[in-house]
Amino acid sequence: MKIFDLIIIGAGPAGLSAGIYAGRAMLDTLIIEKDLEGGQILQTSEIENYPGSLDIESGPTLIDRMVEQVKKFGVNKVTDTVVDVSLDGEIKVIKCEKETYHAKTIIIAGGAAAVPIGVEGEDKFRGRGLSYCATCDGPFFRNLNVYVVGGGDSAVQEAIYLTRFAKKVTIIHRRQELRAAKSLQEKAFKNEKIDFILDTVLKKITGGDVIEGMILENIKNGNITEIKADPDDGTFGVFGFVGYKPKSDLYTGKLSTENGYIITDEDMRTNIPGVFAVGDIRKKSLRQVVTAVADGAIAAVQTEKYLEEMA
Ligand code: NAP
Repeated sequence: MKIFDLIIIGAGPAGLSAGIYAGRAMLDTLIIEKDLEGGQILQTSEIENYPGSLDIESGPTLIDRMVEQVKKFGVNKVTDTVVDVSLDGEIKVIKCEKETYHAKTIIIAGGAAAVPIGVEGEDKFRGRGLSYCATCDGPFFRNLNVYVVGGGDSAVQEAIYLTRFAKKVTIIHRRQELRAAKSLQEKAFKNEKIDFILDTVLKKITGGDVIEGMILENIKNGNITEIKADPDDGTFGVFGFVGYKPKSDLYTGKLSTENGYIITDEDMRTNIPGVFAVGDIRKKSLRQVVTAVADGAIAAVQTEKYLEEMA
């Protein structure tokens, strides 16, 4: 039975960064990824805020270089889907659809995903005016109108943040009352750049290359409203904040979590020795590429230390 020093689950920025550091430290490492490498950042057409990235950088180009680096350091990679994990023993067992893999240590880098709004046109306009991350994409909507879907803490907090850039921010919420904390609601009500459309759902997003319009339905009276882009702008932004979920179902009951996010210490250690978690799947305050790659580096270095102590 082949036993790797390290298995990394997930090949987004956090997993790839862990791979680079582990490969460079000569750990016998396997990365398991079910899709393409890159994770959520593959949907990002322009990265402005990753240090060293100028506007020529896109999610895919940044990921391509990370993948090359991982290969250069001799890290193995398989495309397979993890279906079960056994983490307690000294040898961890990762059961996938195609094969079962074994390792002395595991770095979980499975990521998280925004819950889709469930609107017609969602797939077409993702990354073309429809976003799920205000920190990532807010600055692209400078002086444009922006619509935020959702009524929870994220929707209201991010709507307030988006007023820094947008001409006006309108929160579209499916009920009369917002779910967000009262303190956040008060801030939003006081903000002159924020409007509300309540009891309303977004039915359809329309346009060509970018968003040019959308159709709303009032769920109380069934009235349909069409919103069109200001002719001077030609487009507007839509941000979906109807929930964000870590991909952590496999670890429920096995690792300590909070709201589904895996709890780690500052060295990325979970409650099980030899098991680390990095990137968006972990409980943390800022989910960005820059923090994901930092997590990956820290976890790989800690893995090396753990293996040395075990030897
Ligand atoms: P959330 O609290 O679950 O709120 C999701 C919002 O989206 C709700 O208002 C919900 O409407 C609406 N929604 C759900 N599905 C929808 C759909 N298909 N179409 C339209 N609207 C839909 O999610 P969240 O705001 O991302 O927050 C997640 C967790 O993180 C919460 O525990 C929150 O407190 C926490 N958080 C805290 C802070 C903070 O403390 N500052 C900031 C961000 C997040 P209904 O209200 O009708 O259900």
